[in-house]
Amino acid sequence: MGERLDGRVAVITGGAAGIGEATARLLVEHGARVVIADRDEDRGRAVAAELGDPARFAPTDVTSEADVEGAVRSAVDGFGRLDIMFNNAGIIGVTGPIGEIGLGDWTHTVDVLLHGVFLGTKHAARSLVAQGGPGSIISTASIAGLAGGLGPHAYTAAKHAVIGLTKSVANELAPHGIRVNAIAPGSTATPMTAAASFGDPGRTAETAELMAGASPLGYATLPEDIAAAALYLAGDDARNVSGHTLVVDAGHTTAGLTPGRFNQ
Ligand code: NAD
Repeated sequence: MGERLDGRVAVITGGAAGIGEATARLLVEHGARVVIADRDEDRGRAVAAELGDPARFAPTDVTSEADVEGAVRSAVDGFGRLDIMFNNAGIIGVTGPIGEIGLGDWTHTVDVLLHGVFLGTKHAARSLVAQGGPGSIISTASIAGLAGGLGPHAYTAAKHAVIGLTKSVANELAPHGIRVNAIAPGSTATPMTAAASFGDPGRTAETAELMAGASPLGYATLPEDIAAAALYLAGDDARNVSGHTLVVDAGHTTAGLTPGRFNQ
């Protein structure tokens, strides 16, 4: 395997499962050290233990500023620095018609999906600027962040905002050599979509089969596909890429951004 990230340190929120877990594994394969920051302590500790010395676990709820700050501190205290922040933790959140969404459910969804990204970006930026740069901040948006009809309302609103925040902060941090980008996955076979499709987060293989059947390219988007995009944006191959949203969706949006109407 290549050594593109040798010596670099990443914090990965939502690193205990799905896209975040696949990214933690790929970054370690490429020589990075990673802090897995997740609210799922059992799974997060298990993944970190499996990855060994290059990995640590930091119990983190991304809606808590103290937790997110603690995850960044865990990278700096444990590995000596921070180079890469992957704001990836997420939930589907509240679904349903707009007239029936409760404010509390709406707020919780936006807390996780947007405020979590804000907090990760804020504390990573502080650390990276204090180090004198450079650095890479990456956030997981969604193709639902590009148009309506591709996800529930709160999810769609929050993912649009993640893309807006990415562009805005990329502009501020460019003079520090800090790049800020987003990834917009299409439907990806993870515990999240397995739970939505089958009511069972473990049925990712069947979820991938379903997705492959509906995929323009003929195969499902896997967490490893999104991890590969994160690796690219994290490393020097992307040294001139900032403020960008990289779509990884097996071609779903090639026919336009609203191929279907999301079933609320
Ligand atoms: P997943 O459910 O498989 O994994 C998400 C991880 O985030 C879990 O480990 C979970 O414990 C953690 N998490 C959830 N809420 C958290 C919180 N408040 N604090 C800390 N950790 C928290 O989901 P996934 O499919 O890997 O999703 C990862 C990201 O990708 C999310 O932002 C999601 O919106 C986005 N995304 C997923 C898809 C998809 O089809 N799977 C498509 C587009 C975007």
